[in-house]
Amino acid sequence: MVLTRKQEYRREYYKKNKEIEAKKKKEWVIKNKEKVKLTWHKWYKKNKNGLQMKRQTNKIKEIRNEQQKGYVKRNPEKIKAHSLSRKIKLQEKCQDCGKKATEKHHEDYSKPEEVVFLCKECHTRRH
Ligand SMILES: [Zn+2]
Ligand SMILES: [Zn+2]
Repeated sequence: MVLTRKQEYRREYYKKNKEIEAKKKKEWVIKNKEKVKLTWHKWYKKNKNGLQMKRQTNKIKEIRNEQQKGYVKRNPEKIKAHSLSRKIKLQEKCQDCGKKATEKHHEDYSKPEEVVFLCKECHTRRH
């Protein structure tokens, strides 16, 4: 590409200007080192809690994710059984005490269709 004189001049001008601006900024930072430091320090102090919290929640999320992954890995049958049993309609009565059944329990996770209908209390007792 051939530049016209005008374009060339403009390019030079911007280049020089950029250098001057960068130099000015650098000089300003050197001159105002303390001020910059203080501003940064103030900002950090103000946002410290927020930053820490963000880091912490991220870590918690990570751990939870890992736990979830581990749980799925360790209990593939259990999870499969649970998702399959969701289709099974809940029966009226708890098979142990006759109260209203609210939960499904698997005696054997390899038989996801075979569920026992229990109330919360009896379910807890069975585990
Ligand atoms: Zn019961
Ligand atoms: Zn159960």
